[in-house]
Amino acid sequence: MVVSLLIIIGFLVTASVSFYLSRQSALNTLVEHELPLTSDNIYAEVQRDLIKPRTVSSFMGNDTFLKDWILGGEQDVAAVTRYLKEVKQKYGAFTAFMVSDLTRNYYHAEGILKQVSEQDSRDDWYFRVRQMASDNELNLDPDMANGDELTIFINFKVRTSDGSFLGATGLGLNLANIKTILSDYRARYGNNVFFVTRQGDLLLHDQALPLASNLYKESGMSDVVNDILSTKEGRFSYRREGKTYLLNTRHIEELDLILCVEAEEGKAAEHLFTPLLITLLICALVTGVVLLLLLRALNHYQQELESVAWQDPLTGLLNRRAFADRYQRYQSSHLRSEKPLSLLMMDIDHFKAINDLGGHARGDDVLQLISGVLNQRLRPSDCLGRWGGEEFILLLPETNLDQASRIAERIRKEVEGSATILDVAEQAVTLSIGVATQRERLDLDLHVQLADTALYEAKNKGRNNVCCAS
Ligand code: GH3
Ligand code: MG
Ligand code: MG
Repeated sequence: MVVSLLIIIGFLVTASVSFYLSRQSALNTLVEHELPLTSDNIYAEVQRDLIKPRTVSSFMGNDTFLKDWILGGEQDVAAVTRYLKEVKQKYGAFTAFMVSDLTRNYYHAEGILKQVSEQDSRDDWYFRVRQMASDNELNLDPDMANGDELTIFINFKVRTSDGSFLGATGLGLNLANIKTILSDYRARYGNNVFFVTRQGDLLLHDQALPLASNLYKESGMSDVVNDILSTKEGRFSYRREGKTYLLNTRHIEELDLILCVEAEEGKAAEHLFTPLLITLLICALVTGVVLLLLLRALNHYQQELESVAWQDPLTGLLNRRAFADRYQRYQSSHLRSEKPLSLLMMDIDHFKAINDLGGHARGDDVLQLISGVLNQRLRPSDCLGRWGGEEFILLLPETNLDQASRIAERIRKEVEGSATILDVAEQAVTLSIGVATQRERLDLDLHVQLADTALYEAKNKGRNNVCCAS
């Protein structure tokens, strides 16, 4: 238990620490590299989308045709309409327009759209362009000529060669392309990309973005929203619907919009769960194998210890302690059975002489041979042990005195008649056997004492004898 607990704790700690470190590293990569890189890429793509139209708008602002046409009194509307239509088609713009300061007419590819007026707030842009010091601006507005769809306008002043203001011209760009970029990023990297105005209004975003129309309405962002809208570049973290999000922001001056790249913190570690699971599975497997090996080793040593504790090393028979234990067990399981239990106490006659003649080793051989003879005819319920030096003890359950003395007699004869034993001992080897049978009073000491007395009697009778306790 302790070893398996230690191994499991060790593995769990290792796996958790490695998971935690990997998660930190993944988060670090997300915050330090992935989000800023996405932001840079989108910024570059948005800029690229704006450069060409800007150049075209600049050409339009300086086009002598437009200047001459306005100065010529705006006679042929079809000519300017054709001009705007061609520009629009050639450069794939959403709209191409020109506003004359003389007539305040708004021309586009289809003709005259309207007259701009200072009273109409939709035309504020024109009067702003008229007043501004620079000759161009970039502006995000709904396009009236296209069902009020949000459009990026690149407005250029049209001026005479001496600098007097003739009107404004330029292109309007569809935002669909930018929206495609945003959806693309979301699909590829799972990052939410969106643009917000300085007022927090969500302006440009992928359809599926789960955000309120204004960042001030997002309760989880309340602590950071002011910073998001006022910093040039920033990193933020907030909670939404129980998840933590990381946000990278960047103010895009050309559009006066804030580009936001948002990622869910949990996603950074998502790809780490499979390795964690594999690690844990390996841990479980290794723990299992180690424990199995450990149990086998323990079992092996346990058995060895048991055999050392219970077995007589020379003969392999039960030692005195093991025999006593068996007797005890028999005693407790047959408390009231009243079946006869016989005990044979056997002692080799003049064993000392065998040792003296052939040495201790020969004595050992004889002990082994005799234990082999005794072992041969045992019933499963019988129990044989080595009681002392050259004394053996045999327990015979459910055997009365008569049966036991017959068994003893047979053993005595077998030992006496064994040619092998005679051969090894180089002298006659015989046994004296004392038999005692008990019924009710099962007690080892008493039982042994009775058998010993009978054995003593057998010795006295001249040895190689069987005597029964009365
Ligand atoms: P008795 O007929 O009266 O039993 O005579 P004995 O010689 O058999 O009896 P005694 O008790 O005098 O001698 C027993 C001898 O057994 C003495 C001892 O050295 C020897 N002995 C005891 N254990 C071992 C053993 O494990 N191996 C050997 N080789 N001899 C042993
Ligand atoms: Mg003896
Ligand atoms: Mg003896």
